[in-house]
Amino acid sequence: MKCEIPCAHGRAQDMRKKILDLEKISRLLEPSPRERKEVRKKVISYTEEFLKSIEKLKAYNVTLDKGAGILDSPIGEKGIPIDDALGLLRENVDFPGLNPASGGHLGYIPGGGIYFSSLADYMADIFNRYAGVFFAGPGAVRMENMLIAWMSKVAGYPKTAAGNLTTGGSLANLMGIVTARDAMNISAKDIERSVIYLSKQVHHSVDKAIRIAGLKECVLRCLPLDEKYRIIPSALERQIQLDRKNKLNPFLVIASAGTTDVGAIDPLSEIGDIARKHRTWYHIDAAYGGFFILTDEGKKKLSGMEKSDSLVIDPHKGLFLPYGLGVLLVKERKFLNASHFYQANYMQDTLSHTEELSPADLSPELTKHFRGLRLWLPLKLHGIEPFRTCLEEKLLLAKYFHAEIQKLGFESQLEPELSVVVYRYLPRKGRADTFNKKLLDEVVADGRVFISSTLLNGKFTLRFACLAFRTHLKTVDTLLKVLKEKVKILERQ
Ligand SMILES: *Cc1c(COP(=O)(O)O)cnc(C)c1O
Repeated sequence: MKCEIPCAHGRAQDMRKKILDLEKISRLLEPSPRERKEVRKKVISYTEEFLKSIEKLKAYNVTLDKGAGILDSPIGEKGIPIDDALGLLRENVDFPGLNPASGGHLGYIPGGGIYFSSLADYMADIFNRYAGVFFAGPGAVRMENMLIAWMSKVAGYPKTAAGNLTTGGSLANLMGIVTARDAMNISAKDIERSVIYLSKQVHHSVDKAIRIAGLKECVLRCLPLDEKYRIIPSALERQIQLDRKNKLNPFLVIASAGTTDVGAIDPLSEIGDIARKHRTWYHIDAAYGGFFILTDEGKKKLSGMEKSDSLVIDPHKGLFLPYGLGVLLVKERKFLNASHFYQANYMQDTLSHTEELSPADLSPELTKHFRGLRLWLPLKLHGIEPFRTCLEEKLLLAKYFHAEIQKLGFESQLEPELSVVVYRYLPRKGRADTFNKKLLDEVVADGRVFISSTLLNGKFTLRFACLAFRTHLKTVDTLLKVLKEKVKILERQ
């Protein structure tokens, strides 16, 4: 008698044995409570050691190999001990270059990275809640929507607004510009006669977004700026009228609330009125400056922000979060949704759960990091007050620096609008550009504080950008001291 059953049975047995063999190794991915504790303790002590010495650590570390040692330990079949992994990080990742957690980071646009966000990320990663779709992570999606509603309210947006937590301001700008494009019905055939109005001072992520959104062949009108690097509203209106007369299609006006170069705020309210009158979309990039609206001074200076149709703000700048959180807000949610909704058969089970908007319907992402938690936890644990106060402190530190730097013989004509100050030294002899470049290199090489530079009207100019939450009076005094020392040395050469 031919027996097939035992053979089939045998095959199944073999297969089960093989699966169990694989399981033994795949279970290595689940460390035991003891192993977790051991690794966690070492990670905590590594980070605590860093945090406890943060005030003494340099803001920039020059190294010869620039972290190349990380390449000496390739990704291999077998794991390495945590001590070795931390050793690699200590030497190659967490030391060389800029220390963005330092209060001495006074270049570009800093933020710092507040602690409770890191614990929120820890929890978000352990529970791995799915914050893309309401059906899957209802509480997580409600939390993200609640944060968006809070920020909408702070910005002066109505209840019809929606938004998305992005990885940063660049992605938020891209989504905002894509939304504007679709809301204004700009398709390929319209591009050559469609006009975008912007300032030369817009952040480069706006230029990038225009290109990625397929709009680079639009007519781009770089508007004339006043002596404080702000768009001149009357020039905007004249240009729109002229373009309309010439049968062009003005559809998008972009303003900045806090430019990266000098912290300038375009006349948001007047530009808003013009955009409305001429029925264009109005996008404001407030990635750097937006959260100053929490302060009394900022609220006055940023009035008109609420007139925009879309708005970018960056909690990893203005709320000092660790990198990885920007926000796009759109005044009428239907437009954000129209550019980003999806349909797919394999998502059909989620469709009937519509009490809340899902991030997946409002952004290019589906599976995403539960970013809301890293904003929610610090806001809940600290409350808003210390954030507001920290921003006020930064505004005042900028005014202080602006006054003190002039006493050291630097030229600093622009009153700081927010917390960026531009300044340059006029040396007794030689070219000022060369001198200031040398001065910057000296300050960076010294490392106690970190500054950056820009070109203003073609002139090499130093920037003081005060937004790291750990920057306090002592830090600014250190910068003044370092500048004074270095100028003295360079003047002697
Ligand atoms: C930083 C910045 C951006 C870009 O944001 P990321 O979060 O760095 O992507 C855009 N606009 C302005 C004004 C900025 O300062």
